[in-house]
Amino acid sequence: MAYGDALGLDEATARDTAHVWDKVKGRVTPLEWRLQAPLIAEINRLKRQAGAVILAHNYMTPEIFHGVGDYVGDSLGLAKEAARSDAKIIVQAGVHFMAETSKILSPEKTVLIPDLRAGCSLASSITGADVRLIKARRPGLPVVTYVNTTADVKAETDICCTSANAVQVVEWAAREWGVDRVILIPDEYLARNVAAQTTVGIIAWKGRCEVHERFTAQDIADMREAYPGAEILAHPECPEEVLAASDFAGSTAAMSDYVATKKPKQVVLITECSMASNVAGDVPGVEFIGPCNLCPHMKRITLENIRDCLVNRQFEVTVPEDIAARARQAVQRMVDLPPPPIPARYDLVRARHHVDVELI
Ligand code: SF4
Repeated sequence: MAYGDALGLDEATARDTAHVWDKVKGRVTPLEWRLQAPLIAEINRLKRQAGAVILAHNYMTPEIFHGVGDYVGDSLGLAKEAARSDAKIIVQAGVHFMAETSKILSPEKTVLIPDLRAGCSLASSITGADVRLIKARRPGLPVVTYVNTTADVKAETDICCTSANAVQVVEWAAREWGVDRVILIPDEYLARNVAAQTTVGIIAWKGRCEVHERFTAQDIADMREAYPGAEILAHPECPEEVLAASDFAGSTAAMSDYVATKKPKQVVLITECSMASNVAGDVPGVEFIGPCNLCPHMKRITLENIRDCLVNRQFEVTVPEDIAARARQAVQRMVDLPPPPIPARYDLVRARHHVDVELI
């Protein structure tokens, strides 16, 4: 029986969504798909009419990631795409700091987020006033800020980074400023994992990603016992002992790259839950095994509110121009650095030197 008939879809919806079903059918049930497929077809029609593009983060659910995302990827990739795109309207299928970053890089475009409450525990762990205090206590040191921060914080920053380029950015900043120590905020675990890859000393802040901080070395040991053949890949926002117990550590882009090129038989991705579902759609034959943790902020974005966002042009994200101008300089410096030769990985063998981190 044809795909549309088997799932009870009308002919036009079936035609417009068959290619998406091929990617998500292992992760989405036919019952869910009967509701999702018409929404996907409607969103894709609305965005064409509006001249909009949808930037979808790797942590979106598979029906969003594969169904309506024009560009998909990690924070760095999406920020670059926002600047490159000719579209007048950008819909950020991600969290609020990502929409702000798009607006900072593309002030002439309308940037919409489907739910204004889509926040981030890292972004809310620090304010611009906190960064001013840090700079007063450590004058003369460059401030490198993870892109998971508000515009206000980026405006106090010398250069931004993501987990895909953090080591490269820290080493660049130390060279440019002629110092042996760099302020890297706000994720404490990312800072510690970066410090393990470089001889540059790191001054860190006690911010945490509420998704990645929950993973423990015991989780990894339990997975190894239950699935002895599985390869375990961890994100650098996890604690150091989780990375040390894993087979590979890297950004979401590096994890995708690893799975796509090595095609392990069984793999565990120690990161947000939807990442495995999305990568699975692109690499059939690899078995993805839990555990995973959901990001409650990312999960605020749904097909329904993306549709409403396009219909009602809501919710627009703006950044005051004086803040945007300073934040833009920090983001643009990062974007202008040459891309790392391979998606950043956190080499667990190189990490055995003295690690110099001071919490502020
Ligand atoms: S996964 Fe962590 S860093 Fe990403 S948005 Fe959620 S809380 Fe923030």
